[in-house]
Amino acid sequence: MRLKSYVMGHWHAGERDLQQLRDATTGQVIAEASTVGIHFAGVLAHARRVGGPALRRLTFHERAALLKALAKRLSELKEEFYTLSFSTGATRADSWIDIDGGIGTLFAYASRGVRELPNSHVYVDGEVEPLSKTGSFVGQHVCVPREGAALHINAFNFPVWGMLEKLAPTLLAGVPAIIKPATATAYLAELVFRRIIESGLLPEGAVQLVCGSCGDLLTHLTGQDVVSFTGSVTTANQLRSHPAVIRSAVRFIAETDSINCCVLGADVAPGDPEFEAFVREVVREMTAKAGQKCTAIRKALVPAARLESVTEAIRAALGEIIVGDPRREEVRMGPLATLGQRREVLARISELRREADLVSEAKLEPLGADFERGAFIAPTLLIARDPARAQHVHTVEAFGPVCTILPYAATAEAVDFARRGEGSLVASVFTADEAVARELALGLAPWHGRLLFVDRDCVRDSTGHGAPLPGLVHGGPGRAGGGEEMGGLRGVMHYMQRTALQGSPGAVTAITGRWVRGAREIRGEVHPFRRTLSELTIGETLRSGERAVTLEDIERFAQLTGDTFYAHMDEAAARRNSLFGGRVAHGYFLIAAAAGLFVDPPYGPVLANYGLERLRFAKPVRPGDRIKVRLTCKSKALRAEKGYGEVVWDTQITNQHDDVVASYDVLTMVSTDPVDGG
Ligand code: NAP
Repeated sequence: MRLKSYVMGHWHAGERDLQQLRDATTGQVIAEASTVGIHFAGVLAHARRVGGPALRRLTFHERAALLKALAKRLSELKEEFYTLSFSTGATRADSWIDIDGGIGTLFAYASRGVRELPNSHVYVDGEVEPLSKTGSFVGQHVCVPREGAALHINAFNFPVWGMLEKLAPTLLAGVPAIIKPATATAYLAELVFRRIIESGLLPEGAVQLVCGSCGDLLTHLTGQDVVSFTGSVTTANQLRSHPAVIRSAVRFIAETDSINCCVLGADVAPGDPEFEAFVREVVREMTAKAGQKCTAIRKALVPAARLESVTEAIRAALGEIIVGDPRREEVRMGPLATLGQRREVLARISELRREADLVSEAKLEPLGADFERGAFIAPTLLIARDPARAQHVHTVEAFGPVCTILPYAATAEAVDFARRGEGSLVASVFTADEAVARELALGLAPWHGRLLFVDRDCVRDSTGHGAPLPGLVHGGPGRAGGGEEMGGLRGVMHYMQRTALQGSPGAVTAITGRWVRGAREIRGEVHPFRRTLSELTIGETLRSGERAVTLEDIERFAQLTGDTFYAHMDEAAARRNSLFGGRVAHGYFLIAAAAGLFVDPPYGPVLANYGLERLRFAKPVRPGDRIKVRLTCKSKALRAEKGYGEVVWDTQITNQHDDVVASYDVLTMVSTDPVDGG
């Protein structure tokens, strides 16, 4: 099979300098790749001129819908991906992480896009910053898509997840992607990518694929482009110091090597659920994907007193692992991706063995496969008996089924050993002692992108040490690359430009589509609750009549609800608190009374009130005060295919002196179509 790149709207197969890609188990050549003949400046130009504008024309919700459709389409085809995935050395369970994990990330971003982003082109970041006393000059941060291309350079270990977890936030941001999978497993990435193109769901130029070397592509990068790299720290450093990256301050996200650890708390004894979970996790992290996971546990930190029991338990569990052809159902661990990787891992094990002893020298006879042809390696457990003096065990990453056990004397020493990894993706802590958990959290957090705490309460539901999740940040400081991916919307923002706007409330409202206090109020003849979603305009306002708040109101509300807090019921006590200075109305009464002032009762387009946000009580309301309400349509978002949209109403309750006594957003669902009033 000659792998093809998809560039500038065409499939391209290089004719010269072909790299051979082999099945990890049999060693047979299954594909060849070359990018000779690709005009890389043209690839970037195509993304910027064709893909970018097409994506930016879509709203966030439309892009989210594309992701969802794509995820559905790929789900239908996944058996085909699973079959080819065996060639990478992955078992079916490993492929689940790669294939279902990747598709799941698309789904997750599709749903976040609709829930957390507006159905428009500008993301409003945070609240309005008041910049003048009169309110006529304000600040507002916004994020808009960058106008360049995203270059995704991926590692070999997760050809599908690695591609989709980067693609989802990039496309949602409205930025076209050029995907460069690691060549060793590019055949699987190419198959999935081919199905994406065949689906016809994405606009032309939104995605391109480079199978093989990316030539002089980096030379043509500009300041609007983003590079998101996953791989070794050596390559990351080489690429981030590329003259074009430096010259144009190209945004560079890196996920690199990582010496991740897990810590068994000193409180945990054999037989405890935390002990069993710890052993299970170490074994799983060593053997899933044959340890070729950037998040895999490389150091297991155990209290010195537990060294023997932990070692014995892990050794026994590893003895159950069947290594062999990943196509066989009983096989729990397949080979590494390539023979080159095996040479690399064996060299790293030799380095580790200068400071650590091998726990058991198992002879490897892979089931249904030939050791010489496939990239097999035995799960390798080591013990470093003097970790305080060791160096390699803290810094050498053997990217395979390799883990070293390190005894520690006190929790502070465990923290010290973890930090010697110089910045990692993830650490996990197994303890039922909350003080230990807190001490480790404070010590480890500055050095890690993610921390997992496992105790008996969450052990059943824990997603595990090695699983990056779409809603949580994946990345780490220092040696781990200093980058961040995913983390919900945070991952989308890497592909957008944050810009601080300054101007009048009217100008900011017009730009963002979100009404800002001080901007023009639109008053119509018709009550806003009688208007459908499309009829409503941003800034449409209702100003209610007044109502007096009486002592009787307060007492009846107290009686009705049972809320007889002294501030409402006891004049003498309320006077003692200078915040009240006497009996005041319940805040919740004001909210309810305000609704009584602004609602339009008959059946109509407003389907429901589903909550309040940003509620603040600013000033007490006393018996005899008169309140009134301003209700302004602040933003609206169509829920495509649901027949309604969400409308947020900026609401203020004021008193007879026009002082604001409460302010909040009312959240409603409003029908897109006129409703039958009968
Ligand atoms: P690698 O050799 O650094 O390669 C990573 C990617 O960079 C591949 O796509 C590779 O393409 C490409 N590349 C290499 N040289 C390049 C150049 N001069 N210009 C442009 N692209 C270039 O790493 P790997 O061996 O594939 O991956 C293993 C490493 O990745 C491990 O150290 C692991 O810890 C790390 N990793 C980290 C994460 C994370 O999220 N932090 C995830 C997975 C893996 P070719 O394949 O064509 O050379």
